[in-house]
Amino acid sequence: MTIHTKNINIEEVVKADIAHHFHPFTDHKSFHAGGGPRVITHGDGVWLWDGKGNKLLDGMAGLWCVNIGYGRKELAEVAYRQMQDLPYYNTFFKTTTLPATALAEKISSLLPKKFEHIFFTNSGSEGNDTIVRFVRHYWKVMGKPYRQHFIGRKRGYHGSTWVAANLGGMQGMHEQGGNLLPGFHHIQQPYWYDFGGDKAPEEFGLEAAQELDKKILELGPDNVAAFIGEPIQGAAGVLMPPKTYWPEIQRICRKYGILIISDEVICGFGRTGKWFGFETYGYEPDIVNMAKGLSSGYLPIGAIAFSKDLIKPFFDKGGEFYHGMTYDGHPVAAAVALKNIEILQDEKLVEKVAEIGPYFNKALASLQDHPIVGETRSVGLIGAIELTKNKAKRERFKESGRVGTICRDHCFNNGLIMRACWDTMVLAPPFCISKKEIDELVRLARLALDKTYADVKGEM
Ligand SMILES: *Cc1c(COP(=O)(O)O)cnc(C)c1O
Repeated sequence: MTIHTKNINIEEVVKADIAHHFHPFTDHKSFHAGGGPRVITHGDGVWLWDGKGNKLLDGMAGLWCVNIGYGRKELAEVAYRQMQDLPYYNTFFKTTTLPATALAEKISSLLPKKFEHIFFTNSGSEGNDTIVRFVRHYWKVMGKPYRQHFIGRKRGYHGSTWVAANLGGMQGMHEQGGNLLPGFHHIQQPYWYDFGGDKAPEEFGLEAAQELDKKILELGPDNVAAFIGEPIQGAAGVLMPPKTYWPEIQRICRKYGILIISDEVICGFGRTGKWFGFETYGYEPDIVNMAKGLSSGYLPIGAIAFSKDLIKPFFDKGGEFYHGMTYDGHPVAAAVALKNIEILQDEKLVEKVAEIGPYFNKALASLQDHPIVGETRSVGLIGAIELTKNKAKRERFKESGRVGTICRDHCFNNGLIMRACWDTMVLAPPFCISKKEIDELVRLARLALDKTYADVKGEM
């Protein structure tokens, strides 16, 4: 590995960052009080290094995206070659580039047959904004302009642009953005740990899905355009719905002719041990939103698959879809995504996730004896650890998110990146993680849990 950042003065970087960089999803007061950023300089496999020479196991694959792991030269080489041939050309007005077309064909080949057409974006958020515009326009073209309403879940995460944040159910984001736009609604998330009480998970899953039926009836079935969901709610804390949930959601949507949007930005491209989360959870969407794992985060790119039933009216009736971003199908990003998918296929990494998933699950489960662990769960290589004050009662610590943050900071300081969603610790390591590295991850997690326990013991 050639490291190009060896002689950088990190203290200077930190100073400059504090002086000039306004960060996303950051509490700016504590950022300044805490001495500014940790500077990540390079990575290899599941490992990252910061500017002070600390080695960190990245249990989050960046932001759930670096699925093939860090340091894959093949992707750099493909980008270098494509930049020399053609650094940019657009896909508007009846033009394309070689990588954009090849990637559309490749993504389509990974999906069920009805997904023949792919629309490119630069991020998951743009994908969801695009989907809302497409779906509303589609229903107009179909002579049903009253189908305008979208239903998502509380604490669903669909991105940070305004419309995507409205599809999502993050209350804090709604409040800062000036409350909800008209036509966006949210039902209870299928979160057995918090809301299941004494019910069997399967029974709870059915009940949670029936919330959708109630909401549809409240809005009037003819007014609802689509339901959107992540197969597993990632940013909410890796909420895995009971097995009964998605099939019931699908049944309800079909009953009323409502479209199903599967937001596969995290689950897509192998995270759950199958290519897409809807395969793991037993449903078939009409629209699939993809980003993150599409390029393993090496360059920004997103994609949307629309089923041919949705595309056909556009072909039959004509008329321009007034929507697009300058960089849709960017040739360098598309070439890198294509190479990423080739690596996933050639190295059978999705199959590998399925194979190593049970090992990861068992390793996490070994933490269940810990006094502040209420539950562990995982599927493929995505998992969660619930922090609790009282195991039997599944009771939370007071001030939601406080203890999670304590634990996250202990992780960081001891060489593990594990994120906190409120008081749920979440993990989504790169697919190249070995069994030995999983053992190390769990060892570091236990160390952080022990330190967290020492901090909060007095409250228990
Ligand atoms: C990250 C994420 C998004 C937003 O993607 P960006 O590339 O950050 O815009 C959308 N949906 C889900 C499920 C995500 O996890």
